[in-house]
Amino acid sequence: MTTVAAYAAPAPKAPLERTTIERRPVGEFDVLIDIKYAGICHSDIHQVQEGWGEAIFPMVPGHEIAGVVAEVGPGVTRFAVGDRVGVGCMVDSCRECDNCQAGLEQYCTSGMTGTYNAVGKDGEPTYGGYSQKIVVDENYVVRIPDDLSLDVAAPLLCAGITLYSPLKRWGAGPGKKVAILGMGGLGHMGVKIAHALGAEVTVLSQSLRKKDDGLRLGADHYHATSDPKTFRELAGSFDLIVSTVSAPLDFNAYLTLLKTHGALVNVGAPEEPVALNLFSVIGGGKTLAGSMIGGIAETQEMLDFCAEHGFGAEIELIGADGINEAYERVVDSDVRYRFVIDTATI
Ligand code: NAP
Ligand code: ZN
Ligand code: ZN
Repeated sequence: MTTVAAYAAPAPKAPLERTTIERRPVGEFDVLIDIKYAGICHSDIHQVQEGWGEAIFPMVPGHEIAGVVAEVGPGVTRFAVGDRVGVGCMVDSCRECDNCQAGLEQYCTSGMTGTYNAVGKDGEPTYGGYSQKIVVDENYVVRIPDDLSLDVAAPLLCAGITLYSPLKRWGAGPGKKVAILGMGGLGHMGVKIAHALGAEVTVLSQSLRKKDDGLRLGADHYHATSDPKTFRELAGSFDLIVSTVSAPLDFNAYLTLLKTHGALVNVGAPEEPVALNLFSVIGGGKTLAGSMIGGIAETQEMLDFCAEHGFGAEIELIGADGINEAYERVVDSDVRYRFVIDTATI
């Protein structure tokens, strides 16, 4: 066991504070990673708040991990000491079910093992990236391309893949009108990725406060959803809408913005259910779908895609003592556009 400095919420809704955790010894197929940066995802906040249900405490959140390999087990073949690597939302899965075999480990039929707030195969709770080291099986580790700095790469491990996967699956590309709903951590990556895929990109944000940034990051259009004119003008105009909104939303209103046979893919994970009028999808033969992160191979593909197109996330780098304040700003939709913790400050 190795004792590692970490930041944890000791109890539900409690502020995060400095602590230490134990990491398991490096096993045959394990990689020990010196974590350099960890992104703050809104999912970290939902879970600390127990907004999705009962959680495991103390909780060390963090599933946007970028670091450098410090040690490898004797059976490790894909990584060597010094490699730049990332870990996202999962650190294990059954590896045998149809989904695992198909590279859809996030939908493992036995349930994937979350990077934190989960119990590992060893029966111990998992602890995430707000810490200085982590031990992970090499099959759940990806390579960060040399062209990407580790700080701006960290958020790609969740925010990046969560947008890349549905945008690819639902055909975002040339000739397609794509709207990204919510211009936060996930949303701003959606703008960059949809633009890089060649789609015509519209941001739908609560206000026009972040319009200049949206256009700079690759949006062609930017509208405020607080303005009723937006819904009149944009009715029936999108092939695809991806909602990244963290709060309950009137999906019925957003479904009116789709073309016939258009799709609204939701990735936001609000704590409360939403009311859906099924006539909103019947008329126009529309699809309302969901998507959760992406598989390991697709996460590697996404990192290579971002490096090839020369972008990571837009980040605000903070010290560990700024985590609680950052949480408040994320909840207030005041993030531009991902907080990343410099783990040297833990
Ligand atoms: P975030 O940075 O807080 O962004 C969410 C954005 O949603 C905000 O910036 C805001 O955009 C908009 N928003 C917030 N409250 C709203 C409201 N009441 N009405 C309308 N719009 C509102 O959060 P994030 O880290 O991107 O995560 C977004 C959601 O996705 C969270 O629920 C998270 O748990 C979930 N998530 C899901 C997956 C998955 O695999 N499906 C992965 C990661 C995260 P504007 O200011 O532009 O309006
Ligand atoms: Zn996340
Ligand atoms: Zn499986």
